[in-house]
Amino acid sequence: MLGMSDPNHSSPADLVPMEPSTTSPGDPTMCTHSPTCPDSTSTECYSAQVVADHTEQGWCQLCNGVILFDDGHYLTPDGLDHVLSA
Ligand SMILES: [Zn+2]
Repeated sequence: MLGMSDPNHSSPADLVPMEPSTTSPGDPTMCTHSPTCPDSTSTECYSAQVVADHTEQGWCQLCNGVILFDDGHYLTPDGLDHVLSA
């Protein structure tokens, strides 16, 4: 046999630890729309798809994390408040 019973000869699979997942399957920033929504840093970020509609409260959350208010401004994930320019 080719050292099958050698205790010092572990299979490579036993030596490689589980790699931590860098991308979680439920990543909320992952856009699945087509065409893809503009990034939250884009000047047109407010045109992204609505993912959470709270219009009864005066706001909705967009796919890229932007919070769009019905009184003409929006909040980007970095905490900055922007005014919609018509
Ligand atoms: Zn999207």
